[in-house]
Amino acid sequence: MRIDLHAHSTASDGTDTPAELMGKAAGAGLDVVAITDHDTTAGWAAAAEALPPGLTLVRGAELSARWYGDGPGVGLHLLVYLFDPAHEGLSAEMARVRESRETRARRMVELLNADGIDVTLAEVLADAPGGTVGRPHIAHALMRRGLVGSVDEAFGPEWLGRRYRLPKDDIDVFTAVRLAREAGGVPVLAHPRAGRRGHIVPDSLIAELAAAGLWGVEAGHADHTPEDREHVRSLARDLGLRVTGSSDYHGRNKTITLAAFTTVPAVYEDLAATATGTVPLRR
Ligand code: AMP
Ligand code: FE
Ligand code: FE
Ligand code: ZN
Repeated sequence: MRIDLHAHSTASDGTDTPAELMGKAAGAGLDVVAITDHDTTAGWAAAAEALPPGLTLVRGAELSARWYGDGPGVGLHLLVYLFDPAHEGLSAEMARVRESRETRARRMVELLNADGIDVTLAEVLADAPGGTVGRPHIAHALMRRGLVGSVDEAFGPEWLGRRYRLPKDDIDVFTAVRLAREAGGVPVLAHPRAGRRGHIVPDSLIAELAAAGLWGVEAGHADHTPEDREHVRSLARDLGLRVTGSSDYHGRNKTITLAAFTTVPAVYEDLAATATGTVPLRR
């Protein structure tokens, strides 16, 4: 069994529609794929509709979370699987973050405009039809102007990585874990050592999250060095957390391919048995 528990579609900042993502997952030889768009379940229905025979779909989301414990805090991503999408508390928090993403996009466009860069909010939002707008969509506008050559370059410090970067109102991470569980979902901390995206998540915080209901942690990830992966595995052993591995596929927005990292079947089976919000889908 080949299992990839982290992939994005056009519902957030991937470039494949949910239907295309399902086709590519089957083409990559996966048996199980999770759709985990940022702060939204908007891709779930279309993914389910397009599910090819033999492929199992795990419906999930990647929550934009923040630990507010220390100064500006630490931004972190929480994968949540098989939760009830109608859970009011969780869906309200996701809606709030999506709204904050839109406000932030408008303000970032204003900052760019003030420097004479004529990108428009309309084109940025049109590029995010799923309703979760992010910096990759602003990156595309910069690429169309010939100002940067790639999304990766747009994330450099002189662009969206620092100079024009603004914060969004993320979900408090302890609230996110609690709501994930209340909604019957299974929370897994995404790429905790991916320092390129900001701060590394401290081990002490992961221990606190484990005590608060965190179920697992992503060790296999392209932004982790082999040492990072081993560190996360060892920490998970100490804390009684499950370990996943995933591609974090974003289509053309990143170079990583589906199934580049995978999760072992026993962990997936445990995950499916733990969730009570909804079930994996298979045709
Ligand atoms: P945002 O959610 O708007 O803060 O933007 C962060 C998203 O941009 C992440 O979820 C990644 O998918 C993507 N991202 C971050 N760094 C890079 C990069 N260097 N190249 C391409 N995409 C990136
Ligand atoms: Fe992303
Ligand atoms: Fe992430
Ligand atoms: Zn992701």
